[in-house]
Amino acid sequence: MLLPLTSWSHTTMTVSEILLFSAGLDSFPAWEVLGRPPCLYLDLGHRYAAQERAAIADLVEACGMDVEISDELQLGRWEQPDAIIPLRNAHLAMLAAQRADTVWCVGVKGDNTLDKSPAAFTEMSRFISGLTGRAVRVDSPFWSQTKTEIVAGYLTAGLPAEHLLLTFSCARDDGARTHCGTCSSCLRRWISLVNNGVQAPFDAPPWRWSRVADYYVDAMTSGRYPAHRAEEFFTALATVGHPAARAHPAARAHSAAEEVR
Ligand SMILES: [Zn+2]
Repeated sequence: MLLPLTSWSHTTMTVSEILLFSAGLDSFPAWEVLGRPPCLYLDLGHRYAAQERAAIADLVEACGMDVEISDELQLGRWEQPDAIIPLRNAHLAMLAAQRADTVWCVGVKGDNTLDKSPAAFTEMSRFISGLTGRAVRVDSPFWSQTKTEIVAGYLTAGLPAEHLLLTFSCARDDGARTHCGTCSSCLRRWISLVNNGVQAPFDAPPWRWSRVADYYVDAMTSGRYPAHRAEEFFTALATVGHPAARAHPAARAHSAAEEVR
């Protein structure tokens, strides 16, 4: 069975576990909640690896992270136009399992791609255990939490917001270190941070990205995303007075709370 993880205290570090680290806004809080385990970053030769490696260098310096950086897995040639690499997490889990029995690979509530879901990780655990003859567990500490809730837990634990801002979660492929504000990764980053009162820098305001008005407002309203995603989306839009937020119950509740304050 998968064990629930609710403690944000630093526990004993062991060499039996390893965290697949992406330098993103999910895997950095995972490092803290898991008690700062050793990390593995695999440079796949993908489009934004350079920025991720730069973010890792900053986080290592700021927090003393133990991150092994390896280029043993070159999957970049399989990267799709939308940056998806099919089977990516299965490859990552197998190489991490060469190093540890417990492999932490961060998925969050609502993630349901073919190789990143609770069912997929259970299947990977079974598959890798069977082929190695060891009990290997592939799991995420955050299956029951949204990005916004993960950031909230991190901040509630008294951990510094400025370390969160050193992470990199953007799909831009021009090598720039700043977040573009016009990609789905930036939109999700902005939502999870602004809903926790953290102002993060973006080259362009994510709420003004054309796809917000042209696609997300309708998609979130019409149920194409889980209810928790829609609620967090409209709550974030309400913080900047976006007109689309006024019609949504979650945003109205937010506005009412603002007026009471
Ligand atoms: Zn971006």
